Amino acid sequence: MKKLFALAAIAAAAVGAHAQDFPAGKTVTLVVPFAAGGPTDRVARDLAEAMQKTLGTTIVVDNTAGAGSSIGTAKVARANPDGYTLLLNHIGMSTMPALYRKLPFNVETDFEYLGMVNEVPMTLIGKPGLPANNYKELTTWISANKGKINLGNAGLGAASHLCGLLFQSALKVEMTPVPYKGTAPAIADLLGGQIDLLCDQTTNTTSQIEAKKVKAYAVTTSKRLTTPALKDLPTLDESGLKGFEVTIWHGVYAPKGTPAPVLKKLNDAIKAAMKDPGFIQREEALGAVITTDKRTEPAEHKKFVSSEIAKWGPIIKAAGVYAD
Ligand code: ASP
Repeated sequence: MKKLFALAAIAAAAVGAHAQDFPAGKTVTLVVPFAAGGPTDRVARDLAEAMQKTLGTTIVVDNTAGAGSSIGTAKVARANPDGYTLLLNHIGMSTMPALYRKLPFNVETDFEYLGMVNEVPMTLIGKPGLPANNYKELTTWISANKGKINLGNAGLGAASHLCGLLFQSALKVEMTPVPYKGTAPAIADLLGGQIDLLCDQTTNTTSQIEAKKVKAYAVTTSKRLTTPALKDLPTLDESGLKGFEVTIWHGVYAPKGTPAPVLKKLNDAIKAAMKDPGFIQREEALGAVITTDKRTEPAEHKKFVSSEIAKWGPIIKAAGVYAD
């Protein structure tokens, strides 16, 4: 028995020693559970660039997309808990438990929470030729086209899905959901006219709105935005959908059991990124708000995600949408 304890102590000391060396020049993989080129991917690439300055090692982004972020999230839940595989996900961390009857992970117990990164408003946009030039005209067009409207989303549990659900239930209309592996391919189809409407983060839509390539109808925040290209867009709340508010957040997670010294280094790198002028500038230009409050701390971020699970669960259940 004594021998067993001694062996366990040696093994723990070895893990501890490796943990102290982290990242030891080895590449860190940041899994993005959505398609490349979309808003979650964009945050991840900006963040990776800033974090690698502090960590002194390369961070590569791995787009493991599909099923509203559950495939990439499952990949990280199963990964080695050594700090070299991380997840960047969004509000989907809090909506998946209510949307999926079976998930191969538990968002609250299978991950180490590393901290929150930003909050991003969403915009309601339409395909280029849509004959509605403002939100009021859009509601008229929607009433006249009931049963014929295609609404894109990035899978069950995605931000675009959640926003679309709330929008349809507020208007009491049903649209045909068209799922993608992320909103980068969804926007491409919107530009091509294959889908009619999409609700997506400003980090993906601002440049399209600025270039007038899509029709922009409203923002999902409770107040209008100050970003130059978006400041004239009304909120859905002021447009008649009282109380409508969806803001997307992003956080970083590691597999459960990642050693504490590794978690501390990763959290320090996240907090340093929140002060990185390049990161701040790139994110803010697209309407994102960098997290500077206590939610950059693992425990506070976890508390926040639990409150989001409690907030969205009943709303999703009331909408009666499930995936197996
Ligand atoms: N914006 C997407 C969503 O609807 C995710 C993405 O493609 O980044 O959640």
